[in-house]
Amino acid sequence: MANIGIYGGTFNPPHIGHIRAACCAVSALGLQKLLLIPDRIAPHKEMPAGSPTPLQRLEMVRLCAGDDPYLEVTDMELKRDGPSYTYQTVQALKEQYPDDSLYLLIGTDMFLTFRQWKNAEYLWNNVTLGVFYRGQKDEVVAIARHKEEMEALGAKIVLIENPVVDISSTQLRRMLVMDCAGQFLTCEVEEYIRANKLYGTGENYHGLSMERLESVVTELLDPKRVKHVLGCRDTAIALAKHWGADETDAARAALLHDITKALDGKLQLTLCREYGIILDTFFTKNPKTLHALTGSLVAARIFGENEAVVSAIRSHTTGKAAMNTLEKIIYVADYMEPNRDFPGVEELRKLAFTDLDGAMKLGLEMTLTLLEKQGSEISPESREALAYLNKSL
Ligand code: FE
Ligand code: FE
Repeated sequence: MANIGIYGGTFNPPHIGHIRAACCAVSALGLQKLLLIPDRIAPHKEMPAGSPTPLQRLEMVRLCAGDDPYLEVTDMELKRDGPSYTYQTVQALKEQYPDDSLYLLIGTDMFLTFRQWKNAEYLWNNVTLGVFYRGQKDEVVAIARHKEEMEALGAKIVLIENPVVDISSTQLRRMLVMDCAGQFLTCEVEEYIRANKLYGTGENYHGLSMERLESVVTELLDPKRVKHVLGCRDTAIALAKHWGADETDAARAALLHDITKALDGKLQLTLCREYGIILDTFFTKNPKTLHALTGSLVAARIFGENEAVVSAIRSHTTGKAAMNTLEKIIYVADYMEPNRDFPGVEELRKLAFTDLDGAMKLGLEMTLTLLEKQGSEISPESREALAYLNKSL
């Protein structure tokens, strides 16, 4: 009699986090075999361009598993027609392995909603649940409570601590376009992705038309941020027209200004490391402002934007001393675009078309006041920007 693990997922793409989780499960549960089962993605589900076919996902999972003797990849879910449910997979595996014990591996979110799964009771009567958790305090409390409730219903549950490689597939796809996903993928999977031009890796992003740039940017942003970025683009064009700056540069800089904002602090730091940028201590302590620097790096390296665009993105959160017109426009547009709503924004909107330096100064003062109130550290560049404007105004 053997212990067999069942590890399903879209694996879009499979990454090192999946393999580490699989290894943790093998040791924690004493598995003799762990089945990696790529899920079927419903054919009507809209997939972004460059998404792999089911067979390509299967091939990537095979490459990711490599020759690990514990791991076995199966296409049983991919071959199934119609809606695909976990209980059907378990039924099929029980027939295939009648004398063995099955362990179904799931993450915290899935575990907390497990009772809503189709035929959940059948599942917990026929498998042991292996629940991955990351060890954060509130997560542990939620899991422990839920475990007790489920055990009272007869479920068998083993918790598996798996604190490693915290990256979602969505974030990984962003990192791939930015050419920074190396540390999350096995060499074989990364090569396969590039050879097959998956996830947008095959496109040359230099010199994109404005329309194409807008659609690429929209795909890379957090959906919640798209409105802000498009508002910023429209405002930047209007300000460029008014102040005689290059409208195309203004539009491109505004479209790209928050391009890395969807990446969390750790990924921003990964991007800097992959690009060979050594950061000063302010940035390492305040990763929130880092997206201006990483955004400018991505604009230059991935999108091949010119120096004016790159430098306007670079200074859009902190400002700096002696800013040029385009830099001021992007800073101010980011602050006052139509979706912004805070006390003082109307004054800023008026000033932006009558006195650009005055608008800059007001923006900086409001930011500094807020940061001081929050007890947050203020970037030396912001202080220099304000001191410069105070001297020259
Ligand atoms: Fe920003
Ligand atoms: Fe912004």
